[in-house]
Amino acid sequence: MKKQQFVVIGLGRFGSSLAMELIDQGYEVLGVDRNEEVVSNMSSYLTHTVVADATDEEMLRSIGIRNFDCGIVAIGDDIQMSIMATILLKEMGIGTVVSKAISTLHGRALEKLGVDKVVYPERDMGIRVAHQLVNPNLVDY
Ligand code: ATP
Repeated sequence: MKKQQFVVIGLGRFGSSLAMELIDQGYEVLGVDRNEEVVSNMSSYLTHTVVADATDEEMLRSIGIRNFDCGIVAIGDDIQMSIMATILLKEMGIGTVVSKAISTLHGRALEKLGVDKVVYPERDMGIRVAHQLVNPNLVDY
């Protein structure tokens, strides 16, 4: 069976760590970021990398975004960018769209756009660490 192909938009701490873990798990990952330096730092780790603005519809089409099985929008700070990139991925018909939210309201807006999963990395990690602290025998949570 063909392995799933992922596109990660935004290669900050969350996006780059997610992308590298997918690579470690044996998947193909295209990393997209508008910052040339960020892309150059990641280019040797990922299957493909592209310097592009996630809101540039033409560019996204030209790199064949719609052919990916799953797209992750890992832009947080700039909510407008996060929402616009998410809309474009949804409209282009990627199978699964996952978006990072930095607040509950941001997450609610993303849900209204029909994303398949909203992730709250800081909140979720806080919960996870708390569980590990009170249940030291827990291998993973
Ligand atoms: P993290 O916590 O994961 O480091 P952050 O919330 O501090 O992320 P963000 O502002 O979310 O930082 O940016 C994450 C990455 O997304 C950055 O590398 C940034 O260059 C990239 N990025 C932001 N906007 C766009 C965009 N419109 N197109 C492409 N990449 C973008």
